Amino acid sequence: MVHILNPPAIDSVALIDQVVAERQNGVNKNFFNGMVAEWRQRVQEYLDRQGSPAAVEQWAAVEPRKSTLINLYKKPADGSVQGNALAQLRDHHLTICPACGEAGRPNTLDHFLPKGAYPHFAIIPHNLFPMCDACQGAKGEKTGDADDPKFFIHPYYDRFSTPKLVSLTISPPFATPTFQLCANPALLENEQKLVSRHLLELKVTTRFIDFFREQYRRILRLAAEIRESDGDLATTFGYFRSDANSISTNSWDCIVYDAVLSNGDLIQYLSAGELPWLL
Ligand SMILES: [Zn+2]
Repeated sequence: MVHILNPPAIDSVALIDQVVAERQNGVNKNFFNGMVAEWRQRVQEYLDRQGSPAAVEQWAAVEPRKSTLINLYKKPADGSVQGNALAQLRDHHLTICPACGEAGRPNTLDHFLPKGAYPHFAIIPHNLFPMCDACQGAKGEKTGDADDPKFFIHPYYDRFSTPKLVSLTISPPFATPTFQLCANPALLENEQKLVSRHLLELKVTTRFIDFFREQYRRILRLAAEIRESDGDLATTFGYFRSDANSISTNSWDCIVYDAVLSNGDLIQYLSAGELPWLL
């Protein structure tokens, strides 16, 4: 699941001035000179309001020049100020997607506030973070709606009262269980609402159901082996959980082992029940 990131070590407001300075010999000089003061102010607002779509407004006046702003992102000249900033953001060492926790290097940069609706944030580092293709496809241009203005967790800004964000419930029959993923009930109410919406909009439950099933098959196999060697099941799974937790409390392995260890009926079943012929 979600992994919190440190904000980029790039001054997003100073970047605006540098980008405009680079355009003093170009055909768009007058456009950029005419809007730079307000652009800088709007970027500062983004930082102050933590990129929240509920608080950061669109900018109607730049709509006619939208493509000029978006092209700064899409077609940066080699060695340009924003090109270097984007390269710095892409040069990360993440091995999981910060939005969903899927294993593998996230290959794209997502615009937290989409560049179509907010072209003036298209190159703003604090609006950009690595994301996997599946999350980006599910997120699209969405930000929120009238009832719920913020759908997604911002990995640079959102912080929570407890580090564990989601909770997995494994329900009987334990030979062929069902899996239910929800926001951790220990979170504050507004935090639960944001996590639930994030899960829903990124289609996390449906995307990860096969992973849960496969992990559960592994747990059944392990339970059979532990029983054969007269080992203690909860202790052994506790070691695995501890190992997974060292990567992250929100790693999927940790969430699965939490689900097993917090479920007394399931532990009883794995310890003494009739395990399905699997495997
Ligand atoms: Zn993802």
